[in-house]
Amino acid sequence: MTASATQAAGGFYGDPPDATHPWAIHDMNRPQPPRVEPGSFSTQDKPGIPPSDAIILFSGKAEEIAKWQSDKPSGEATKWEVKDGALQCVPGSGYIRSKEEFGDCQLHIEWAAPSKVEGDSQGRSNSGVFLMGQVEVQVLDNYNNPTYPDGFAASIYGINPPMANALRAPGEWQTYDIIFRRPIFKDGQEVDPGYITVFVNGVCVQDHTRLEGGGGHMKRSSPRPFPEKGPLKLQDHGNPVRYRNIWYRPLPKRAIEGGEASLMSSEATAAKRASIAKSIREDASKLQGEARMYRLLESLCYAEDASARNEGEKLAADFIASLRSTPAEKLEARKGEGMQFQKALNYLVKFKLLPADFPARQQIDQLVKERGWDSKK
Ligand code: MG
Repeated sequence: MTASATQAAGGFYGDPPDATHPWAIHDMNRPQPPRVEPGSFSTQDKPGIPPSDAIILFSGKAEEIAKWQSDKPSGEATKWEVKDGALQCVPGSGYIRSKEEFGDCQLHIEWAAPSKVEGDSQGRSNSGVFLMGQVEVQVLDNYNNPTYPDGFAASIYGINPPMANALRAPGEWQTYDIIFRRPIFKDGQEVDPGYITVFVNGVCVQDHTRLEGGGGHMKRSSPRPFPEKGPLKLQDHGNPVRYRNIWYRPLPKRAIEGGEASLMSSEATAAKRASIAKSIREDASKLQGEARMYRLLESLCYAEDASARNEGEKLAADFIASLRSTPAEKLEARKGEGMQFQKALNYLVKFKLLPADFPARQQIDQLVKERGWDSKK
């Protein structure tokens, strides 16, 4: 059997596409996940290596300060400093923002409070990681420092406290891994409030926390539209907090904004099914005989097409005719082909993609019975 025929046989396996799923269950037409070379974890001494597709915002090099600017309206150069491989807040100099702008992402960032403990509550090594410049994941030395919980380290500031305090001692590097999904509005209506998930030093402390518009100080926030992208901002709250190993990976679009993740709208599903069917038919056009037949019939699972149906049905009729005209002594060698054909036609009939009285199906059933191919030994 050819590789294509093997793949085509796999096409009549799991439940077919439906109104909100453009792919069948276990569909080999679905794209393989893109390869990403994983990186390595950080130690206290050494930052880890980012995964291969990460966009690096800061890896410890002095020249990377050029990827950042002061958040002041003038966009002037920041006064924050790169020292010993860390990006350090210079108190009084203002927030810093990345020149790079992005929206939904996986963000990795590490920070360290000064080892000399000064101040308490919100005054102890306060900084902040602002996704899209708007949603603050709090940075604060809460190792041994109570504060209002919705302002705790790794709180979504003003919205939700972290589920645990997984901080290391001041002076040590802390790791935040964040999954961020911005709010989405359509025609002035919120269609997705946006969510954020945060791990502190590998411990999940925010689990898909709803954004409620982004949070803030003293005032309860309410849902509001976000732009598509924004800078990453780091807060100057008057403490010399250090950062290292800052990178992100953009996340694919959600179904609600035209992506292909999870349940899709019926319109998007229909369009995707049509495009999958088209590409299967293009593949079929390069094949001959049995392999071509299977691909054409398989394409009907995604979208109807009169010419694909006519040709697929004709090739099926030719195929069963060739089996039936095979001399008895050579027919046993074609058992595998026959069984595969029966399986495919049974699938297509089961899901009403072929009529129950499709002649080639009745003929293959009869042949399989005559030969005893279906008998359990
Ligand atoms: Mg802060």
